Amino acid sequence: MLLDEILQYNQEFVEEKKYEGFATNKFPNKRMVILTCMDTRLTELLPKALNIGNGDVKLVKNAGALVSHPFGSIMRSILVAVYQLQADEIFVIGHHDCGMSGMKAEDMIDSMKERGINEETLEMLTYSGIDVTKWLQGFHNVSDSVRHSVDMIRKHPLIAKDIPVHGLVINPETGKLDLVASGYEK
Ligand SMILES: [Zn+2]
Repeated sequence: MLLDEILQYNQEFVEEKKYEGFATNKFPNKRMVILTCMDTRLTELLPKALNIGNGDVKLVKNAGALVSHPFGSIMRSILVAVYQLQADEIFVIGHHDCGMSGMKAEDMIDSMKERGINEETLEMLTYSGIDVTKWLQGFHNVSDSVRHSVDMIRKHPLIAKDIPVHGLVINPETGKLDLVASGYEK
């Protein structure tokens, strides 16, 4: 049971004061916010490859490092980082071999059906105006996807024009970064 394992470890962690090396505050030392993917390979690799430690940056994650809606929770998190938490630069970091790359909504819908989501539910959503297939669709090219998210942020009506927004793609094996868009060149 994962929960039991985690709670047991956590008790030791706190009792043995293993938290002491992580003391910091809510403001990022490097005054930046990163939007990246939830991919498991990046959990430790990305911070190490960028020389980021606890307390250094605001980190926002989702599947694919996507800004898919201008007024969704990802964009709100970025705005909070900028206006409340002193992040002065924004980094969008996608990665090669992303699960969202080439992901077909139809395959995921098939998995849902196998797990008991019935056809009527999906039809009901369609009649309600929700295009589930479009909503679940992945992207074809990670660089294009990063560029698109960078544009969404740059052109957002609530983002100040002087905030650099950068786009990068990271290799999930080597940690190598490729620059897709520099926020210093307008
Ligand atoms: Zn990914």
